[in-house]
Amino acid sequence: MEHIILPKRNYYLLAGTLIGKEGNSEGNNILLHIQNRILKDIYGPVPSEQISSLQTSSFSGENKERRNLLRAISEITKEEPPEDSSFLDCSAYTVMPGLVDCHVHLAFDGVDDEKAMTGWNEPESVQPLAASRFESLISNGILAVRDGGDQAGINLLLRKITQEKKIPGPLITATGNALRRRNSYGSLLGEAGDGDNVSRLALAGVDQIKVVTSGLVSIKEYGRVGPIHFSFEDLQVIVNKAHSLGLKVMAHADSDLAVDMSLRSGIDFIEHGYYISRESLLRMADLQRCWTPTLMPVYIWTIKPGVDPKYKNIAERIYRRHQEMIKRAFDLGITVGVGTDSGSPSIKHGELYYKELELYSEAGLSTGQIIRAAMTNGSFITGTSPGIQKCHPANLLVLEENPLQEGISALKKIKYTLHG
Ligand SMILES: [Zn+2]
Repeated sequence: MEHIILPKRNYYLLAGTLIGKEGNSEGNNILLHIQNRILKDIYGPVPSEQISSLQTSSFSGENKERRNLLRAISEITKEEPPEDSSFLDCSAYTVMPGLVDCHVHLAFDGVDDEKAMTGWNEPESVQPLAASRFESLISNGILAVRDGGDQAGINLLLRKITQEKKIPGPLITATGNALRRRNSYGSLLGEAGDGDNVSRLALAGVDQIKVVTSGLVSIKEYGRVGPIHFSFEDLQVIVNKAHSLGLKVMAHADSDLAVDMSLRSGIDFIEHGYYISRESLLRMADLQRCWTPTLMPVYIWTIKPGVDPKYKNIAERIYRRHQEMIKRAFDLGITVGVGTDSGSPSIKHGELYYKELELYSEAGLSTGQIIRAAMTNGSFITGTSPGIQKCHPANLLVLEENPLQEGISALKKIKYTLHG
């Protein structure tokens, strides 16, 4: 696999098959024009004789061949391509938008929370640490993420680093610090939740607000989840304040009670939702709210070494039930996004994303549904670009196989990633 960091110039890419932003095949032999990292235009299908003249023109720097290439491009686009144009032949491959992880914590590495936190206090260590996490995400095809917050607001700093192109990284939707109740779960993620802190986060430039509405799901006792953290009224103050500032709200809600309260208070995105009830799913569908179920934080207990078999069984029961509810959510037409909660204990960035998809497949979802969840729904939930849309950043995957034909395993056969 090769990462292609898009240059600030003109790039023409010939896609053997193009999967568009809705997750459907948009045709074969499509030429994409990328300019300054933005998808400028889409041409095609390109007839086979024009493909061979594109392929026979190389860019060895020879003036004659360069002229041939520019001529071959202009025959397809019907306009003069800029002098600095280069060409990437992906006619043997499938091109699609990058995958989206709707729930990560970039400040942590999934290995050692405390060590990760000390690392962030030393400014010189921020970039190398971030670089390895970004590399791991991108290698797994994840070109956009939404960060669920950290105590120090490191996710805002990382968004800045990627925006300034200091190091290549995914598009980051940042929440700064999660809002939580004092003396309750979430101390590593944020600070006291009230309307004033919503305003402060808005000023700091967050993209969304994250609120922790419940404690954690337990794998020691089936059915047990930490308590509700906010009164309905307090939650409504936060949500109304956020909405008045044009910010959507994502809620950590591990129990059905927390989901129910979050939905009633106007929260836009439900995270986790273990033990979610059918009634809550129906309400979610009715209200057109989105759900990021995150199977990994529970599933991980079934594969971790040294876990008491009793707890393993409970974890399995929880995630199996969750799989059923995910299938039901798709059947109800709910916008489900794929999130791994990477950065949380034992969940390294990027590495378990494919497992999350596999569990969707095991739950009975079609490849098309899974791909739409992973990119189309993910783009909607994170508010980032779906990759193949004119005037939007080109964040693309080039795959050796077509996932719509070969199944989700094709998402592991990445030839190139292209991003800014
Ligand atoms: Zn989280």
